[in-house]
Amino acid sequence: MFFGAPGHFIKFAVKSNAYDSGTVPEAARIPKVAFASLGCPKALSDSELILTQLRAEGYDTSNSYAGADLVIVNTCGFIDDAVKESLDTIGEALAENGKVIVTGCLGAKQGASGESLVREMHPSVLAVTGPHATNEVMDAVHRHTPKPHDPFADLVPPQGVRLTPKHYAYLKISEGCNHRCSFCIIPSMRGDLVSRSIGDVLREAERLFEAGVKELLVISQDTSAYGVDLRHRTGFWDGRPVRTHMTELCERLARIAEPHGAWVRLHYVYPYPHVDQVLPLMASGAILPYLDVPFQHAHPDVLKRMKRPANGEKNLERLARWREACPELVVRSTFIAGFPGETEAEFEHLLDFMREARIDRAGCFAYSPVPGASANELPGMLPADVREERRARFMAVAEAVSAEKLKARVGATMQVLVDKAPALGRKGGTGRSYADAPEIDGVVHLLPPEKASKTLKVGEFTRARIVAAQGHDLVAQPI
Ligand code: SF4
Repeated sequence: MFFGAPGHFIKFAVKSNAYDSGTVPEAARIPKVAFASLGCPKALSDSELILTQLRAEGYDTSNSYAGADLVIVNTCGFIDDAVKESLDTIGEALAENGKVIVTGCLGAKQGASGESLVREMHPSVLAVTGPHATNEVMDAVHRHTPKPHDPFADLVPPQGVRLTPKHYAYLKISEGCNHRCSFCIIPSMRGDLVSRSIGDVLREAERLFEAGVKELLVISQDTSAYGVDLRHRTGFWDGRPVRTHMTELCERLARIAEPHGAWVRLHYVYPYPHVDQVLPLMASGAILPYLDVPFQHAHPDVLKRMKRPANGEKNLERLARWREACPELVVRSTFIAGFPGETEAEFEHLLDFMREARIDRAGCFAYSPVPGASANELPGMLPADVREERRARFMAVAEAVSAEKLKARVGATMQVLVDKAPALGRKGGTGRSYADAPEIDGVVHLLPPEKASKTLKVGEFTRARIVAAQGHDLVAQPI
């Protein structure tokens, strides 16, 4: 190992593995990575993290570019000399090895075309990331030089161990919440919002689709707030910069899902103004036209007592705009009836909202005090029978809206994702359309196909003609 003084150029020369690539079987050969690190101590620390991860995963390091399976160059982009030195080092690694991954500050710099400067100067590099990007770098290493076999870790499938059926999966993008709704104790249990890095989230999505997932359900406590805690910093995915922001997340997820013909469904979306930007993706079908928006109430005074986020938004107008932008949009929501101090007039206001907003899928809970919630201190706790009676009245309105909406679908043809299909669907099966999230919404009961050659398979899509509405569900004939 040597240190070059001005540019802090460090070329790692770690003792080669005892195996020589020419004399051992391919399966037993340990892949080698050469590493060039330039720049300041922060870059050096990034290099250490990457090297530590390489060694933890069983990779070896090489003392020459030519003897390695690939080269990682950690660059500096601070002053012109450093940029030149970084670009020269990349060029040297490409000439001697050909397989080069670039990371570090220069990776985050844009060239004249708006593309990464590194890609402009060296289009054949395998991947480019910015600084602090150990996971993105490792992801690129895995893609181009597969990990050595680990008899313990390799028992775990690449998408991890999942509890959902093979064809759908939840993708958690953040944990915790910055709000303090008075009926909720989640922030006291899970803390403030902590968003996952966008590179990690997109990589997990990619692995899930590659493993056969056909429906990805994006979850969090507050999906619209994704990245607020990280100040929407720029992360990296697939060698390109991407902002840690809900709208960019949706765009990238849509792109990743497309070649797999898979669905992306959004849950827990608060109606902040930037959500409007996701509607075109829904109108084009890139993201399912389905929004799970937990309104909880409609009267401004109740929302204030609930300390709800986005309570100043004009939700009826917003819903109307969303539906204008995407007429297929299905909105799911949950509400609380009988919140402390709720007057009959406030409750009637909620019913009017429900009638006018025509929420497609609505659930309602009678308010129930949660130990530790600040709403317990509010005056005007209503008797249990009043809370329950209001819940029932709300659900009667919600069910009438839902029944009307489902009836309007009779005669339409919809794409249905099959969840159950005994005997390849010869006796029919069960599935869901874009309007039905698993576990919480209705289902589509599939009749046995009319054509003997038509089969239904779990995890596959089928077109089906809606022939009847039945409670919260639809009945359909596969075609
Ligand atoms: S109910 Fe309010 S405080 Fe609780 S998780 Fe949702 S937004 Fe956060």
